[in-house]
Amino acid sequence: MTILRNLSELNEWRAQYSGHTIGFVPTMGALHKGHFSLVQESMKHTDLTIVSIYVNPTQFNNPEDLLKYPNTLESDLEELNQLKVNAVYLPTLTDIYPDGPVSRIFDFGSLAKFMEGLERTGHFEGMATVVTKFFELIQPDFAYFGEKDFQQLAIITQVVEQDGLATVIVPVKTVREEDGMALSSRNLRLLDTQRTDAGNINKILRNWISKKNFLSSTPQKSSAFLANEISHYDSLTVHYVTFANSKSLEPITSFEASTPTRIFVAVQCGNVRLIDNFPLF
Ligand code: AMP
Repeated sequence: MTILRNLSELNEWRAQYSGHTIGFVPTMGALHKGHFSLVQESMKHTDLTIVSIYVNPTQFNNPEDLLKYPNTLESDLEELNQLKVNAVYLPTLTDIYPDGPVSRIFDFGSLAKFMEGLERTGHFEGMATVVTKFFELIQPDFAYFGEKDFQQLAIITQVVEQDGLATVIVPVKTVREEDGMALSSRNLRLLDTQRTDAGNINKILRNWISKKNFLSSTPQKSSAFLANEISHYDSLTVHYVTFANSKSLEPITSFEASTPTRIFVAVQCGNVRLIDNFPLF
């Protein structure tokens, strides 16, 4: 595995492989099995896989979250090496932001109007800025994104289309712990009791979805019911439980089996903001 510590090392590496298909997995490090499933998908379908590890300052709307973002670089590199990834890119700030860390301006339309887009001002602009910069520098054929961050996946898919980029965005299913909780780097920051409480979020949602009795209710009533169930746990405070159209990401006003619909949830657990989502139909 080649470790690329700046843009000129990346350029040198990239120049050797024109004519090969390149798969790219952008990450912020503190890697776990969720990240590794993206890497494995890339390795299955491309000649070469490159992973980036970069904690992108412009996508953090909360300075404390940026400051406390876990850093496990040494073990990340070891695990990627064991997976036989071809290259890891650890960019410098000036590789990505030669003129300083400022986001590009985007029009995400309806995709960023609700949920994380509404609550984390500037987050998606920062994310789309760094990802499009990576695409420009790496020129990957395929890039792999987790459904765990469904709104991010939808936004980057749209940006690629709007910018006319050649990279194909490949979605990858959410990898979960044994109790069903979605793996996330931020889970490392949860205390034991918080982690136990957090495991109930997915159980409450899944249990409710499996009963299907929501078809006789409304999204508004169902959101209120689920938010109340989650709030029973001491360490959980609900930011939102939203039912949205899986394509436009706009909240729905009635359940229609003919409309692709997902449930999206954001919950504060101690200092950590947890998000998850599930399909309804
Ligand atoms: P992050 O390091 O949090 O920026 O995530 C990097 C990529 O890994 C993003 O495309 C995430 O959606 C994806 N990812 C994070 N957690 C999971 C998970 N539990 N399952 C699948 N993909 C994930």
